[in-house]
Amino acid sequence: MVQKRRHLEHHPGINPEPFQAIVESVTDVGVILSESWCYPKGGGQPGDTGVFRQGDEEHRFEEVYANSNIIHPVSGDNLQAGQEVECVIDSNRRNILSSMHSAAHIVSAAANERWGAITVGNQLGITESRMDLKFENRDDFDSNVLEKDSNHWVKKDSEILVHQWGREQIMTDDRVRNRRFVEKIIDRIGGSNPILRMVEIEGIDLCPCAGTHLSSTSPVGNISIGRVQNKGKGTFRIYFEIGSMIN
Ligand SMILES: [Zn+2]
Repeated sequence: MVQKRRHLEHHPGINPEPFQAIVESVTDVGVILSESWCYPKGGGQPGDTGVFRQGDEEHRFEEVYANSNIIHPVSGDNLQAGQEVECVIDSNRRNILSSMHSAAHIVSAAANERWGAITVGNQLGITESRMDLKFENRDDFDSNVLEKDSNHWVKKDSEILVHQWGREQIMTDDRVRNRRFVEKIIDRIGGSNPILRMVEIEGIDLCPCAGTHLSSTSPVGNISIGRVQNKGKGTFRIYFEIGSMIN
């Protein structure tokens, strides 16, 4: 059975609360809990890190990832199946990554709005993130314009909302960018009524996303676009930083 990803229920995805869980099993790669609110690495967002508290002991876990279960890599093996632990997620790290993720949606949408650019890859980091943008005509791109457009949306303090939507609602909404791509995701989920988690930034963006986000755009702080690398095939890799006020 595939373990539930409870972080999906968490919006805004900042200041995650410590939670209690039972150690279900201790494997070579890490600990599996009865349930976990940790974000598992994916979609360009690094996984959560944190500690398990058990009595007076603390066990640090490294970047969480998922296969069919959510794996919390723990060094040392003082934990045993059946024990109850308190799981404390590193909230500063989660908060910065949530800000970065919200910033990434803004940058991606701004580049699509201005040049029709498609985001073909991204990797969020603590101090710097990057995004690969594919252009129809790359010569039109201007990083100063992208920075200005992005900060326009930051300053608007647009609300960030999370929806659970079915195929019809998604495919009939004109605000969804790159609908062909979204339809492929819906097809991949399959079933009679596939539901997608849609993240909306009011006025600029609406796309499927399993990441963690802020509740509105202004706490992202100033977005600064840094170096730009040529990745060939009409694609630029752009790096950006944020002046996030949350940490
Ligand atoms: Zn996202």
